[in-house]
Amino acid sequence: MSRIKLLPETVASQVAAGEVVERPASVVKELVENSIDAGASSIEIGIQRGGISRIRVVDDGCGMDRDDALLSLERHATSKIASAADLAAISTLGFRGEALPSIASVSRFRLTTREPGAVAGTEILVNGGRIETVRDGGEAPGTQVEVRSLFYNVPARRKFLRSETTETRNIEHQFFLQALAQPAIGFSLVRDEKVALQLPVTASLRDRIRDLYGAEFLNELLEISEREYQGVRVRGWLGRAGVSRQTRAQQFVFVNGRAIDSGILATALREGYHTALMRGQFPVTFLFVDLDSQDVDVNVHPAKREVRFRDPGRIREAIVEAVRRTLESGRVDWQRKFSPPAPGGTTAVLSQISPPVQPSAPSSFERMGRDSARPSTSLSPDQPTLPQPPMAGGGDSPNRGRAIEVNHPYLTPEPGAAPKDDQQFQIIGVLNRLYVLMENSDGLVLVDQHAAHERILFEELRRRMEEEGVPSQRMLLPQIFSLPPRDAEWVERNVATLQKMGIGIEGFGAHSFRVDTLPAFLEIADATDFLRRVIDELKTTSRSSSPLRLGEDMIAKTVCRHAVKANDPLRYPEIEKLIRDLLACDLPYCCPHGRPTMIQISHAELEKKFGRKV
Ligand code: ADP
Ligand code: MG
Repeated sequence: MSRIKLLPETVASQVAAGEVVERPASVVKELVENSIDAGASSIEIGIQRGGISRIRVVDDGCGMDRDDALLSLERHATSKIASAADLAAISTLGFRGEALPSIASVSRFRLTTREPGAVAGTEILVNGGRIETVRDGGEAPGTQVEVRSLFYNVPARRKFLRSETTETRNIEHQFFLQALAQPAIGFSLVRDEKVALQLPVTASLRDRIRDLYGAEFLNELLEISEREYQGVRVRGWLGRAGVSRQTRAQQFVFVNGRAIDSGILATALREGYHTALMRGQFPVTFLFVDLDSQDVDVNVHPAKREVRFRDPGRIREAIVEAVRRTLESGRVDWQRKFSPPAPGGTTAVLSQISPPVQPSAPSSFERMGRDSARPSTSLSPDQPTLPQPPMAGGGDSPNRGRAIEVNHPYLTPEPGAAPKDDQQFQIIGVLNRLYVLMENSDGLVLVDQHAAHERILFEELRRRMEEEGVPSQRMLLPQIFSLPPRDAEWVERNVATLQKMGIGIEGFGAHSFRVDTLPAFLEIADATDFLRRVIDELKTTSRSSSPLRLGEDMIAKTVCRHAVKANDPLRYPEIEKLIRDLLACDLPYCCPHGRPTMIQISHAELEKKFGRKV
């Protein structure tokens, strides 16, 4: 007796629905994507009870005639591709012809649609996949899809739905994704009969971000200067160095206009941010990657959330480079903040108080700073601390009232901006032996001296590493150790890289190695353990990234121990040098662990706090 049966069409659709329609937010995604593909200029999304009781998507797109409307509910019926060859270069969001029949098979479904010039429209009612009514409809041109009682006939699925609040949040996230991807389309979200969000048609992504998050949020972002890298175009906006979130909720990545989850791109972002991101935190990104549709396969995942790249290395490099450049460009803005103080302010008074000249021995900064011979000798952690400068007592405080001219070697002032050597700010004092207080024309600036010094040392060591390789130190007793065959083979291929990182290593019989030098600035207790970690980390960093990246990680870990501590008292010239060196850094506004080095409190904020302005 034969046991194999062809599944009835409605059951087959329910099986397919299992992949495409996971939750209310996936319905919203599919319907909105259809509206976008239909050329809509306005899309309204209405939901009730987290979308479980009702989802309605209304658009003003091209609509369908009656035959197409009926056909659109058949499985594998699509207007977007016609042949297998089309699969190789997909330019629409949909192409599988599965969403409408899948959704209709697990809900009470209503489609009304009308082409712009048509006399009448069509209304189709479907119940659990069965077409019940087809009649003339009188709605405005465009398409409306209403989905009620989602999963009413699939109890197993219904059980997996989360609370209404959670499902609402998922839908809102989906709404944000689509709205960001399409600034030229007006969107609105109606939640339980109340308008929750209304987004007008805008000219740019910037305006869309502003409408979604508020104008203040733009201050935390930098625009990616659009570049094409071997056919990969990268554009969008990125959180400044030091701006991060505890979740991925604001890490948006779009490939050819489609929001996707991609491990490769997330890693590339992380790599681009590198020291500008705190460990365990996620960057804020509105990243758009555009490439030839032939170079990306979107037919990987039924819900089209994942893609496959023909050449992932190229994409990764493009992103790393774009992020790095963008973060460094943020320096210019920071620099601009240090404009001349307003005339007649406290500056005039303070600058009359000249700090006492220090005829002292070289300060700990100078010894640690960029003029020192080798970091290994200059970074001794037990520097003698200098006497604490008198903090209170007005006029004779050595930290008071000196203007520092910011003179950044890499910066040319904007045309029309004040000349470079006019840019200055005043050191007011040091708070709690930790925060250097300064004023500039914008208001108050606080600098965390420890974080600032970490950044300076980090960049200094990195520069040297790039130029001369990492200074190394001979071990008292060379160590011999063996590795598993694959690791051993890897080391053999990368001896030169390891040497550049200050690790003197050579073969010593089958799968064994002898190490006799290690990076000088690291305190390494167990050389073998250290090397195993280095090899593991190096193996996972991308082929394209500089092998020195790992060296950077080592430095970032170690500078903390050598930087001036939170409550090391500093004298005025030291502070001045600290600030000057900080502002000459590539990424002055965060330490190598991604924590901020400086905070600006504007006059406006102060005035608000003192109730001078509401
Ligand atoms: P796909 O989008 O993969 O083609 P769907 O099942 O989502 O498959 O839609 C089937 C077809 O119905 C689409 O190819 C399109 O021609 C038509 N369609 C769906 N939604 C709309 C809409 N909002 N406006 C106009 N046509 C639509
Ligand atoms: Mg579709």
